[in-house]
Amino acid sequence: MKAKIDHVGIVVHDIQEALKAYQAALGLPLKEIVAVPDQKVQVAFLPVGESNVELVQPLSDDTGIARFLTQRGEGIHHICFEVEDIEAVLAQLKEHQVQLIDEVPRQGAHGRVAFVHPKAMHGVLVELVERSH
Ligand code: ZN
Repeated sequence: MKAKIDHVGIVVHDIQEALKAYQAALGLPLKEIVAVPDQKVQVAFLPVGESNVELVQPLSDDTGIARFLTQRGEGIHHICFEVEDIEAVLAQLKEHQVQLIDEVPRQGAHGRVAFVHPKAMHGVLVELVERSH
């Protein structure tokens, strides 16, 4: 597995409002804002070196991330590791009896992604991405 954090996901109520802090005040560049229909969210990517801050705004109330926002408020939601072969990493996790949210990768904003259950990762929701480039 590549030793690289692709991004840190921060859940927010309103991306435009959050950009006032992360882009305007802190000075991070804004790469793009994209909708991810599959996950019913809108995301903003702000590059920080080789990694990114990902601001995530739920677009629907019936998703896990929307419930997270309601129950726990804004804040760090997940950490995403970039992998070269997402199927191989998922197979390796299964071999170690690690509980997965996604047994099969789904389409993310920049490639195929899969989430690992936070219970298995000591309280951290872990996302894996195989970038399509
Ligand atoms: Zn993410």
